[in-house]
Formats: sequence, C-alpha cells, structure tokens
Amino acid sequence: MNVVVLLGAPGAGKGTQAPLLSDRLGIPVVATGDLFRAAVRDGTTLGMDARRYMDAGQLVPDEITVRLLLERLSRPDAGHGVILDGFPRTAVQAKALDDALVDRGERVSAAVLIDIHGDELVRRMSGRWICRTAGHPYHEVFSPPNVPGICDLDGSELYQRRDDQPDTIRLRMAQQLSALSDVIEHYRSSGVLHTVDGLLPIDGVAEAIDRELAAAGIRPAGEPSERAAG
Ligand code: AMP
Repeated sequence: MNVVVLLGAPGAGKGTQAPLLSDRLGIPVVATGDLFRAAVRDGTTLGMDARRYMDAGQLVPDEITVRLLLERLSRPDAGHGVILDGFPRTAVQAKALDDALVDRGERVSAAVLIDIHGDELVRRMSGRWICRTAGHPYHEVFSPPNVPGICDLDGSELYQRRDDQPDTIRLRMAQQLSALSDVIEHYRSSGVLHTVDGLLPIDGVAEAIDRELAAAGIRPAGEPSERAAG
C-alpha cells in the first residue's frame, strides 16, 4: 500500500499535482480541505465546527481533523493506498497518522515537499478562483478561464474562497508555515522526505515527483513494489 504525503505551503501546487499523481499511481487523493468543505456544504456538526476556523484562515483543531481523516482512510477505495493533500499540517497530525498506519502494518511511503518561497506564494494565492460546483481551480494570471467568472468545465460560477482573499492570506501563511516546518522535520527524521522545486512548470514538478517516488521504490497500485519483487 502506497501512502504518499504531499507537503507544501498553501499555493505551492499540491492541489494541482495531487490529481495528476493520482492518475499515475492509481490511488485516490484525500484532501482534508475538500473533506471539510464537503462537510460544511452538507451542514454536518463537524462541518459547522470546522467552518469558523476555515473562514478565519486558521487550522482546524487536530482532534477534529484527525477524526475526519481516519474516517476517510477506512473507506474501501483507500485500501490500496492514498495521496494525502493538506494532511498532516501539524506534528500532532503526523504522529496520529503514523500510529494509525502502524496499527495496519503500514507506514508513510514517501513525503514529497513541493518547495517554494513566500513572495511567490502570495502572488499565486491571491489570484486563485474556484468553481461553485466542483472546485475546479483557476488563476487570474497563470490559468484564467476562457470566459471570466465562468468554469470552462461545468459552466458554474467562479468565486474566491474566503480564505484566499488577501487579508486572510497573510495570517494563514504565518500560522501554517510554522506548523509545516514541524511536519517537514517529522518526515526528514523518519527518512522519507523528498523535496522537489515548486518553481518548475507543472510538468516539470510532476516529473520531479515521479523521479523521487521511483527512487523510493514506489510503483503504481497493482505493480509489484521493489521490496516485493526482491
Ligand atoms: P486547503 O483546501 O487544504 O487549503 O484547506 C482549507 C482549510 O481547511 C484550511 O485553511 C484549514 O482551515 C482547513 N484544513 C484543511 N486541512 C487541514 C489540516 N490538515 N489541519 C487543520 N486544518 C485543515
């Protein structure tokens, strides 16, 4: 089972790379941000609890986040592995994930850091718009829609997430970068950290991720891993 953790500051490109990698490895993406937004849309208790943190650009408390993630990992489609996007975001979450995987005789196969510096992050994040129906992402500068304000794929309205609005970005970044560095250290010390240059074009980042994963012996689901092949 491949458990690949994608790490990077908000705006580093995790959300762009995760579905591409999912196609290549044949395992689903689990993005806690998407799970939270779905819970908010569905009006669940967990969604209502999470919402006030999300709207304020803060991390949702670990206890709520870990519960949400473990519930998702227990579903059948996660049985062959997952790509985690946006989790873990704190050292406590990283430890909780390790513990849950140990219980199943598994471990994090690789943590891939998409590395990018602060100025570029603000530039990227403040131009991000997503569609109402499916969350398809656009960017004012880097990937604008054909018709302003309308999703190319499903025709729904584009909006700017409250936590992508400029006043929320700075707060969000300061808080999240310090927690991210704890998570990076967690995986560095367990020897599974791989770093790729997030300033490369999208294809270049994807290729760099493939190189790192191949070096770590990670193969698409269904193909024997290096370990299994001897
Ligand atoms: P994202 O779509 O990954 O940028 O997540 C949107 C928001 O959901 C974040 O700003 C947090 O409020 C919340 N969130 C998502 N993942 C986590 C996590 N692992 N820990 C805490 N909060 C999270």
